[in-house]
Amino acid sequence: MKILKNYDLTKLNTFGISVRAKFFVEIKQELDLKELFLLREFKENKKLFLGGGSNILFIKDFDGLVVLNKLQGIEILKEETESILIKSMSGEIWHDLVSFAVDHGYWGIENLSLIPGTVGAAPVQNIGAYGAELGNVLESVEAYQISNGAKRVFSKSECEFGYRDSIFKNKLKGKYFISAITLKLGKIERKNISYKVLKEYLRKNEIEIKNSKNVSDAVAEIRRSKLPDPALIPNAGSFFKNIFIEKEKMQALLEIYPKMSYFEEEMAVKISSAWLIEQSGPENGTSWKGYRVGNVGVHEHHALVLVNYGGGTGEEIKNLAEQITTSVFRKFGLKLVPEVNIVL
Ligand SMILES: Cc1cc2nc3c(=O)[nH]c(=O)nc-3n(C[C@H](O)[C@H](O)[C@H](O)COP(=O)(O)OP(=O)(O)OC[C@H]3O[C@@H](n4cnc5c(N)ncnc54)[C@H](O)[C@@H]3O)c2cc1C
Repeated sequence: MKILKNYDLTKLNTFGISVRAKFFVEIKQELDLKELFLLREFKENKKLFLGGGSNILFIKDFDGLVVLNKLQGIEILKEETESILIKSMSGEIWHDLVSFAVDHGYWGIENLSLIPGTVGAAPVQNIGAYGAELGNVLESVEAYQISNGAKRVFSKSECEFGYRDSIFKNKLKGKYFISAITLKLGKIERKNISYKVLKEYLRKNEIEIKNSKNVSDAVAEIRRSKLPDPALIPNAGSFFKNIFIEKEKMQALLEIYPKMSYFEEEMAVKISSAWLIEQSGPENGTSWKGYRVGNVGVHEHHALVLVNYGGGTGEEIKNLAEQITTSVFRKFGLKLVPEVNIVL
């Protein structure tokens, strides 16, 4: 295992922020962890485990050890008549795991196609898209305690999943390295195509769903046509989470803002943060959507996506995010919460 010094992280974060790590190391197999935990550079410095860097904002050089996760391997643990248990090492590319599943005809993660990043980061924010969430199919998470190297298996309930949230983003933030996850996928059809945009796309293109790959292809096509590609315009997807409030509070808001965009969920109401950002701006009567300041800005078609036009710093993105948060709060009394992990 080779420790590199003063390592350039520009290509390892999809925001393309130009920062360096004091120390940098890549792990390729689970055995490497044993060696890693004994390293002086590991023991004496702060650490950051990095996957695809697609949900992270670096503000400055990282004064510690960055560990790039490349643990590979996907295996079938157990097969039953209607379901299958699949274990994936955490350094696998998330979409490769989706492709493995749909190519074998398994159901459960096809709606999560083409989400950037690694398998190991997926439980951290309980990735979700097109009406599905990782938490719906996750069986367990294997992880190593960073302070002492002890291995632990978390059951689904122990992960404390919520909307773009888990125990690994809260109580146990930065305390565990996720080495593998196990999913329970379906072998018989359980399609989930009620999400509005997906349903519309399938209807318009007259696509009949015969297998999970059909769903995966449709989701991938929608994502390609809609979402800004970080390779062309650096970004980290939605910068903010949507906002959940109680149904009664929504009624009160609708009396003041009848056009407010929201979605009814089982227990609460989800307000579109994109709409809130679109309706607010740097000055009265302007909108943040398409706003640019220096090298950073808000995407012209996606108010939730902050972008780096080239040469932008993490500080610039963070300042813009704070200005947006303040203006939305002033106008609507609602607090935006970042989805992206900000590394200070
Ligand atoms: C264009 C675009 C679209 C996106 N669309 C979606 C979407 O539809 N739905 C969605 O949920 N997300 C979406 N995202 C966000 C992102 O893809 C996910 O959050 C993804 O899971 C991040 O994976 P990563 O490997 O890049 O994580 P990183 O950015 O490398 O890390 C994110 C956080 O997880 C921690 N972490 C990473 N790996 C581990 C590990 N093995 N153990 C412990 N901690 C770890 C890191 O330290 C960091 O705090 C999108 C991002 C982009 C750029």
